[in-house]
Amino acid sequence: ERLLEVRDLTVNWYTNEGYVNAVDRVSFELYEGEILGLLGESGAGKSTVGQAILGLIKPPHKIEGEIIYKGKNILSMKESELTRYRWTSVSMIFQAAMNVLDPVLTIEDNLYQLLKDKGIVKNKKEAKEKILNLLKKVNLQSQVAKLYPHQLSGGMRQRVAIALAIATNPEIIIADEPTTALDLVTQFSILNLLKNLIINKTIKSIIFISHDLPVHAYISDRIIIMYRGKIVEEGKKEEVIKNP
Ligand code: ADP
Ligand code: ADP
Repeated sequence: ERLLEVRDLTVNWYTNEGYVNAVDRVSFELYEGEILGLLGESGAGKSTVGQAILGLIKPPHKIEGEIIYKGKNILSMKESELTRYRWTSVSMIFQAAMNVLDPVLTIEDNLYQLLKDKGIVKNKKEAKEKILNLLKKVNLQSQVAKLYPHQLSGGMRQRVAIALAIATNPEIIIADEPTTALDLVTQFSILNLLKNLIINKTIKSIIFISHDLPVHAYISDRIIIMYRGKIVEEGKKEEVIKNP
């Protein structure tokens, strides 16, 4: 089943030097059950595609084309509708997990804040079991709930970021270089966790952004290669990696 369709997406960022083209007539589809990899060197436009899908690109930047989710073009949604679509339909995980965690709140309270903001729970009592369950899903022990972000390792923080991303029950996760800052062993444990989210049907699919070919070889089912804003190759992992 098709979850998302990107049609002729073009993005121009507004900068001091005028418009800079970051994405040029990019089209692709995302299917249920798959991990779709976006591969390409730094500056190729991968992150911009992710931000476009989250509906985060606004004037003075220019965005054209269509991003269809459940029959609706998210590029013509009102901000109130978009706010609901973000998180509840599509969540994002960044390289810098620290940025999404409030440093003065415990992990439990960080999760509580989001669950409350998004109307998923009304009070702490209601949140308690949900939070323990979320920590379990990302393989963190319950004691982590009482810790503060700075007390966690990079890998643990990335697990919390994944817990936040799935807390709102989205169908799709966009993971933008989620393992780039981690050591190799931690990197693969996070990749396995992401794979398991699909296997366990916690979420339906992942758009996985990385410049790193071995990482795609491990996690992606299908790969799109971008170069200077354009798609230059697309196919099953085995095909794309065989013909570099
Ligand atoms: P990638 O994720 O493949 O590294 P990006 O999407 O981050 O590529 O960047 C694509 C192009 O858009 C680059 O030229 C980059 O400098 C530019 N760009 C990205 N984000 C912004 C922004 N917020 N404002 C202006 N230019 C940007
Ligand atoms: P709110 O309306 O709750 O303040 P926004 O949608 O304005 O939230 O987003 C605030 C910040 O959170 C954004 O700058 C973005 O970096 C991050 N963000 C937005 N949507 C998501 C998401 N679905 N998953 C993860 N982070 C997100």
